[in-house]
Amino acid sequence: MGERRDEVQRWTTELTPKMEERLKVQMEKSHRFSVHYSSPSVYEVRSDFSYVVNISDHSCSCVKWQINCFPCPHGLATIQAASENVYDYIDKYFRVDMFKKSYSFPIRPITNVDMSSSESATDCILPPLTKRPPGRPRVKQFKSVGRLKRS
Ligand SMILES: [Zn+2]
Repeated sequence: MGERRDEVQRWTTELTPKMEERLKVQMEKSHRFSVHYSSPSVYEVRSDFSYVVNISDHSCSCVKWQINCFPCPHGLATIQAASENVYDYIDKYFRVDMFKKSYSFPIRPITNVDMSSSESATDCILPPLTKRPPGRPRVKQFKSVGRLKRS
C-alpha cells in the first residue's frame, strides 16, 4: 500500500501508466479506419468489416468497448473524427486521481507479540473422545428383486 501510494506521486499523466500504454496502442490501431457519420453520436466505422459506434452510449458493435469500459480502436477513431477529447470517453477508474484515492488510506500493520506462543501452535489436535456402542456394527441390507418374488 505504501509503495503504491509513493509510486503514484511520480505519475504525471491523466491515466495510469498501463492505461496510457493501452491507449497509445489502441490509438495506433485506430488510424486504419474510415469513419462515416450516420446520426448524432452514431457512426459507421469501416475497414475490412463495418462497425456501428455510438459515442454517447460508449458502445461499439464489436462489444470490446462495453466489456473493457475502455474505447476500442473503432471507438477511438470515431471520437477523433467527432473532434472530441479521447480522455472524456475513458472510464474514471483508469485515471491517476482514482488510483490515488484507492491507496490514500493506509492499512495499519498488525503485531503478533500478543498472540499465543509458537509451542502451542505446533501441538497436535487429537480427535474427540467417543464411546463405541457394544455389539457388532449394524449393516443395513436391501432385499434383491428376485428374493422378493419368491416369498
Ligand atoms: Zn469496436
